[in-house]
Parts: sequence; structure tokens; C-alpha cells
Amino acid sequence: MRGIDELGDLRGQRVLLRSDLNVPLDGEAITDDGRVRASVPTIQQLTAAGARVVVMAHLGRPKGAPDPQYSLAPVAKRLGELLGADVAFATDVVGESARKTVAALADGEVAVLENVRFDARETSKDDAERQAFAAELAELGDLFVSDGFGVVHRKQASVYDLAQRLPHAAGLLVRAEVQAFSKVLDDPERPYVVVLGGSKVSDKLGVIDNLLDKVDRLLIGGGMAFTFLKAQGYEVGGSLLEDDQVDTVRGYLSRAEERGVELVLPVDVVVAADISEDAATAVVAASAIPADQKGLDIGPATIELFRGKLSDAKTVVWNGPMGVFELAPFAEGTRQVAVAVSEVQGTSVVGGGDSAAAVRRLDLDEGAFTHISTGGGASLELLEGKELPGLTVLES
Ligand code: ADP
Ligand code: MG
Repeated sequence: MRGIDELGDLRGQRVLLRSDLNVPLDGEAITDDGRVRASVPTIQQLTAAGARVVVMAHLGRPKGAPDPQYSLAPVAKRLGELLGADVAFATDVVGESARKTVAALADGEVAVLENVRFDARETSKDDAERQAFAAELAELGDLFVSDGFGVVHRKQASVYDLAQRLPHAAGLLVRAEVQAFSKVLDDPERPYVVVLGGSKVSDKLGVIDNLLDKVDRLLIGGGMAFTFLKAQGYEVGGSLLEDDQVDTVRGYLSRAEERGVELVLPVDVVVAADISEDAATAVVAASAIPADQKGLDIGPATIELFRGKLSDAKTVVWNGPMGVFELAPFAEGTRQVAVAVSEVQGTSVVGGGDSAAAVRRLDLDEGAFTHISTGGGASLELLEGKELPGLTVLES
């Protein structure tokens, strides 16, 4: 995978840069600018080399047409603040504003195009439509740099088709993400521990399938743990349960046993009658969840158990919160496990959108982890062992 250094002299070159600037907004206020910050180093490398940087990105899921609530204008403004430089903004994607804005760029300057998903061809399933859009984008640049890790699992015009049209390279973020995941997937130091949580086991079947045979220990918390507990014969009350996955999960339990993989489930859980900030909570054994209660976090004994299983690990992958971390009464399991993951003497990688959000929301030290992925879906697909079109295309 080529890096920016291998693109030759960038002075005066128009570089079309696909970034991931898909941040949560409350009106025009960005509530978590992590992705904007993650896009900065590559932009700075390009501007320092004298390139004219044209940033392409999407925001939310507009229906293939301009929609002011999904405008990238507030994001472009934030990017300018982080760069400490003026950032021009085109009010369309490949129209007159885009052409004029790009033409007005001087060496080392940055422009952001309006949301690429305002054009329905960006995400079209029809190859010809996507390619036609990519051809129009390609007229705005001389080179293509792919740095939107959060979208590299998508076969979309600004991610995939554009790379087939212009000389291209991977940006710093995409390279860092790929390196971190190849290290844990292809060459893990042992003991190798994977911690999985989150809401549904059905979202993570591919991850379990791919990792189960590679790891030494698999720790399971979060909502998905209840389908595992059920498969072991326990009643789980009103907790999240996917009845149709119980057989599949039973298969995982026996596969783990055959392969000598330690599969570790919660021994106690924090329960409440409903999911609310002021719920009355109790800690019960995982084998004794009352019928009228929901399991919403792992309990203190499970936290200790998981900490112990992580203490000697040399490689850890963590995906999925241990409980409903968005609410204070159910955040402790996620907090403690995240801290234990970050304290590992070795490589610690966090994948999954909500897991990365949990690290920031719980004010944990992001720098203590080896790598926190910026791509939820993309990181899951890498953990599933899939080929990602937006990465494969960069190899050509
Ligand atoms: P990621 O995005 O990191 O892959 P998921 O999307 O799978 O994670 O899961 C995140 C969600 O799982 C969070 O919103 C959290 O509230 C929810 N969750 C975790 N544990 C439970 C639980 N015990 N019951 C219900 N929801 C849970
Ligand atoms: Mg999620």
C-alpha cells in the first residue's frame, strides 16, 4: 500500500483526499470531533508538501440529494480551527461552487467539498453510475489519497472508483489502522485475549467465527453475554436475548472447548427493572437473574475475573461495551474493563464505534491504548477477516 511519500513532488498538485468527517451533530454543534481530529495529520502532511488539498467526506445518511441538516459546513469550520488555517468550503460536490473553490486554491491550502452523499451516485449499486460520478470528482484533482478509514469497507465512488482513476496512496490514518489490525490479526503475541460485548451477538457472529480459533481467551460481556448464558442453561429474565442464536452460540461454546480456548462469561450482573439513569440496581449471580429484571452491566466479581484474564495478556482486542455505558449506573463494567485493556503490557486495539465512543465518553486516557479505531463497521469487517474494497483497490 503506497504512502503519501511515494506520490512524488506534491507542490501545486491538487490532491483529492477522502476523509471520514462523519461526526455526531446537535444542530450545528459537533458533539464529538474525534474523527475531525484524526483527519488532521494527513491534511497537514499534504499542505506542508505544498499540495492543494480538496477534502471529500460524507455526513449522515442524506437521501442522495442536498439536505441542509447534513451539510458539512460546520465540520469544515471545525477543521479550520484545528488546522489553524482558513478552510474554503464548496456548497456543492462537483458543481460550479466546487470547481471555483478548487480553482482558487493556492499551494498548501485546503478546501472541503459539500457532503458527497448529496449526490445519489456516490453510493449507487450501479457501477456505471458510480464511475460517472468518480469521473466528475476526478476532474477536481490530480491525485487521490484515501484516508477515510470509516468508509473503506464501502464500494463507493469517492472511496473505491476514484482510486481506479487517479494515481493514489493511503493516508496516515488508513495506514495506521491497517497496521494495527494486521498486527493483532496476523502476528499476535500471546497470551492473546479478545474481549467482546455490545448489544447483539448476531452483529458479532463473523468476528467470533474469525477470532475464536486464533485467541487464547475470549471474554464475553455486554448484552450478547445473555445469549451465551441462556445457551448454558440459565434464565436471563428481561435481559437482551436472541433466542434464534442460542444454537449457534452453543456451537461456539463447544468449538472453544475443542480448541482449548478459554471462553469466559460473566459470573454476576448488575440488574434493574428498566433502563434509566435513576433505576434501582442490584447485583445478582449470572445464574440467578430474577424474571422481572434486566442485566445491564457486568458485576464486580466479573470485573475482577476479567481483569485477571487480562493481566498477563500481550495482545488484546476489545470490541463492544460491557453494559449500557451511556447511563451512569451501568457504566462501571465498561470503564473498568477499558482501563484493564489499556494497562496491558503489549498491544491493545479498540474496534467498534460505540467502544471508541465509550473510551471518550468515560474520559479514559486515549493515549494508553495502542490503537483506537476510528472506523466502527470497517474495524468489525477487518476483525471478521473480510477483504475491504476500499483497501484492496489501493493495492493496485
Ligand atoms: P460497537 O459499536 O463498539 O461494536 P455495539 O454496537 O455492538 O458496540 O454495542 C453498543 C451498545 O450495546 C451500547 O449502546 C450499549 O448500551 C449496548 N449494551 C451493552 N450491554 C448491554 C446490555 N447488557 N443490555 C442492553 N444493551 C447493552
Ligand atoms: Mg455500534
